[in-house]
Amino acid sequence: MNGLMMQESLLISSLIRYADRFHGDTEIVSRRVEGDIHRTNYREIHARAKRIANALLAQGVKPGDRIATLAWNGYRHMELYFAISGIGAVMHTINPRLHPGQIAWIANDAADTWLFYDITFQPLVDAFAGQCPTLGRLVAMTDKAHLPASKVDGVIAYEDLVEAGSPELEWPDFDENAASSLCYTSGTTGNPKGVLYSHRSTLLHTMMGVSPDVLGLSASDVILPVVPMFHVNAWGVPYMAALTGAKLVFPGPALDGASLYELFEAEGVTVSAGVPTVWQGLLNHVMQKGLRFSTMRRTVVGGSACPPAMLAKFENEYDVQVLHAWGMTETSPIGSACALKPKHRGLSHEQILALKGKQGRPPYGVNIRIVGDEGEDLPWDDEAQGELLIKGPWVLRRYFNREDESPLLDGWFPTGDVCTIDPDGYIHITDRSKDVIKSGGEWISSIDIENIAMAHPAVAMAACIAVPHPKWDERPLLVVVKRPDAELGREEMLAWFADKVAKWQIPDDVVFADAIPLGATGKMLKTALRDAYGKHPLPTAD
Ligand code: ADP
Repeated sequence: MNGLMMQESLLISSLIRYADRFHGDTEIVSRRVEGDIHRTNYREIHARAKRIANALLAQGVKPGDRIATLAWNGYRHMELYFAISGIGAVMHTINPRLHPGQIAWIANDAADTWLFYDITFQPLVDAFAGQCPTLGRLVAMTDKAHLPASKVDGVIAYEDLVEAGSPELEWPDFDENAASSLCYTSGTTGNPKGVLYSHRSTLLHTMMGVSPDVLGLSASDVILPVVPMFHVNAWGVPYMAALTGAKLVFPGPALDGASLYELFEAEGVTVSAGVPTVWQGLLNHVMQKGLRFSTMRRTVVGGSACPPAMLAKFENEYDVQVLHAWGMTETSPIGSACALKPKHRGLSHEQILALKGKQGRPPYGVNIRIVGDEGEDLPWDDEAQGELLIKGPWVLRRYFNREDESPLLDGWFPTGDVCTIDPDGYIHITDRSKDVIKSGGEWISSIDIENIAMAHPAVAMAACIAVPHPKWDERPLLVVVKRPDAELGREEMLAWFADKVAKWQIPDDVVFADAIPLGATGKMLKTALRDAYGKHPLPTAD
């Protein structure tokens, strides 16, 4: 017997329709590529999204067509999120920090037919568009007066497209399982792989994401997503903002500490979300200038492990609550978030900070397991380390264009992350399986070593990699970037570990570097570090 409730598809268009109807005058503020501040609201975004949608339909865009964007976080990008998915086409966000050759590869794999881009990316577009035979239409996200000189023919101005489209549109109804957006993994190992989200997966992820133990977003919040809209849909924040009617503030390309702080204060930002490297820049800025946050209450940190020193600084010195979250492109991305339970109320401040340093527990909808080398289930005792497997309605089943390959193991997605799980289900990611240091049959967590190093006052950034060792197979090498003007030598750095980890976990050597290479999503690029230092002669090797 079926239930007798209304059958309505979970579609992305319903989000913007709702935001327009109930939060139409709520502001959406963007720092533009031109450097100025632009103000609009949900009503306007919806109206312009309809115009773009009509213009695309008039030019023959069909459901399932892939339409690419190369753009920063801004209102026009938001309009495209709703215009493209709203008519059943696929919003394909491309990471502009990739090499032009990789971008061409991705655009060809996706067979993108249109490309919308911020004008700062004109040189990039000139460099790769000619290599993409399916790319028929190029749209610069500006007005005619600001159209940049282009080496490729036929570039249209975004504002002309908005003008051309009628504002009259009823968003079409279709199957909620239809594809809505496409995002490629950054390809740190091999070619990038496309993750194709559906309307249903996006809506379920959005409803979970706003809930109190995750982003806890409401109409009274002002959210600034630092996490880019070109990577995993900015962790879903544009959709979550529309679902709640929260005010949105987009930082555009200016992600340095000073620019972010200025926007946080000017717009009354209460919540933000981003990777640790961005927060490091913001914290350095407020520390150096002796500033305070007047409205900021919470920040979501994820994408790589949040160093405990950063967590403590935010919470103890700036009164900003940190929510540590874990996820992947393949998981939409939210897989876990570290919200506390009533039983933790009795814990000391230090114990709470230690708990919040974990990646947290899955929200409803996500299931997890840890398995050993033979695929056997390991206990949730906070000690056994194994690979994290995940399952749920917003977790990838198969990569785009790879019909013949199943990445799943018995219906579970293997994450490639190594973790422990405690009896309450809190995950602690100790490493990526390819980054873990295997020393004499024991595993050393590169994340643990980095976190300890980064708590040293003279250290700005630290990375730990495995270097081959004749006796122990692999031993840890620490690469350190010192804070400006700080004094720190090898011996002092190594002595810092003495009372913090077992002796065999202490790195064998330290090299000081000017910078640590970051990948296209702002994470430390361990592959580049291994290329640079993988043959470093260890003093213990003789
Ligand atoms: P890519 O795999 O392309 O770098 P993703 O953004 O999909 O891009 O990265 C997902 C990976 O990032 C996870 O598998 C995990 O290794 C790492 N990660 C994400 N969040 C955290 C976190 N809070 N702590 C530790 N690692 C994290």
